[in-house]
Amino acid sequence: MDDVYKKNYDVLVIGGGPAGTTIASLLAQKGHDVCVLEKSFHPRFHIGESLLPMNLPILEKLGVLEQVDAIGVKKYAAEFNSLVTDPAQDVFYFSKATNKNHPYAYQVRRSEFDQILFTNCQKVGVTTFEGMTVLQADLSGCLKKIQGHDENGNEHEFTGRFLVDASGRDTFLARQLNSKRKNTQHQMSAIYGHFRNVKRRTGKDEGNISIYWFEHGWVWMIPLQEGVMSVGFVCWPSYLKTRNSSLELFLLQTLNSVPEINERMLEACLDGHVHATGNYSYCSDVMSGDGFLLIGDAYAFVDPVFSSGVYLAMQSAVRGADLVDQLLNQASSTKQEGKLIAQFKASVEQEIKAFCWFIYRFNSPALHKLLMSSDEASQHPVKQKLKAAVISVLAGDAYKNKQIRFPLWIFKLLYRINYCINFKENSWYTKFKKLQSSDG
Ligand SMILES: Cc1cc2nc3c(=O)[nH]c(=O)nc-3n(C[C@H](O)[C@H](O)[C@H](O)COP(=O)(O)OP(=O)(O)OC[C@H]3O[C@@H](n4cnc5c(N)ncnc54)[C@H](O)[C@@H]3O)c2cc1C
Repeated sequence: MDDVYKKNYDVLVIGGGPAGTTIASLLAQKGHDVCVLEKSFHPRFHIGESLLPMNLPILEKLGVLEQVDAIGVKKYAAEFNSLVTDPAQDVFYFSKATNKNHPYAYQVRRSEFDQILFTNCQKVGVTTFEGMTVLQADLSGCLKKIQGHDENGNEHEFTGRFLVDASGRDTFLARQLNSKRKNTQHQMSAIYGHFRNVKRRTGKDEGNISIYWFEHGWVWMIPLQEGVMSVGFVCWPSYLKTRNSSLELFLLQTLNSVPEINERMLEACLDGHVHATGNYSYCSDVMSGDGFLLIGDAYAFVDPVFSSGVYLAMQSAVRGADLVDQLLNQASSTKQEGKLIAQFKASVEQEIKAFCWFIYRFNSPALHKLLMSSDEASQHPVKQKLKAAVISVLAGDAYKNKQIRFPLWIFKLLYRINYCINFKENSWYTKFKKLQSSDG
């Protein structure tokens, strides 16, 4: 038997979250010798519990869909609640997207979800280490070398022909390469926890994510199994600076300040710890280089209001697996390799960009008005087409979906017109944008 510490792997992967386990499993299935190094031990807490419909084909490809179905809550829609629109609520059913094949997604406890993915990559032959923290990478030679230590502090070195950084928000390589850039357009922070006894929606709507806009940002409610609700808020840095109590109290005070949320949480009690994540949007200037690649949050992180993170991480891993496979097999010339890498980068960028257009305008009243519509208005065929296009983006189906291009263009045009016409009304949003950039 090979010594797992001394052998040369085809691919070394830093991080055993959704991105790392997905690329590792797919590369192992293509016949490569892969090693994943994960600093923590599964199951471990992680935020990012609401998946998108377009996650499902990836889970199917990995062969874990049934297992995820067993631990997940079905999410048929995303419900948005606004303080400034009439109606105050609109529900975006995924069945109304242009692609009718994936009418739902799942809400999952990430401890369970990530463990399924991790165990699955072990099953398909990936060598895995838990409690192994990577500290240093040497990218200079043909063989990539990484140094790390295990949970007892013993140091280890690993070598591989290719290195994938899937270290999530730790952004291991981007830090080492000094390529991490704060997203100046979107500097927000989040505080969150798990609660019991939060009022759930009923029937088919029970698993829907609820999003509430409020004065200082937005709040999420994600129903999980066994009566648990993940609840948290994302806010401007200026609001976070007003905190003069514990995280727990600040979270509760903020949630109670929104009447609809207060009503749903009258009997709620906290189940576990309250967590916080600060200044969280960023991107790396470098996505790939000679023998290495950054995927998932290790490359970029955008606001999770549309639950895009896990999908973007796994999708970049799927495309990354094809790319690394082709590069390792050296079936192509250097020129072709450059083209493959450029195509990979463009696909990752385009997917992120599709969400960002909505994210950057999420707090603008002009977008609220366009997104939220009364039943009567939503019956209009043009409105239905526009909404189907928006829902397709929210389902993770923006890339290569030609049907939505023109309706999305119209939607964005309407947004701009609405913004200009109601400039005064939108000015509070502009004020917050200014505050936001001065804080950032
Ligand atoms: C407040 C908040 C709410 C969110 N809500 C959602 C949501 O509802 N839906 C959604 O899809 N996404 C959401 N996200 C985003 C989501 O959490 C991430 O996009 C997703 O987890 C990215 O997956 P990943 O595999 O790239 O990184 P991760 O899941 O973070 O995995 C990275 C792994 O690498 C390991 N690691 C890190 N450094 C090292 C090292 N040096 N050595 C070894 N191992 C290392 C970590 O322990 C971790 O297990 C949310 C994020 C935040 C902050």
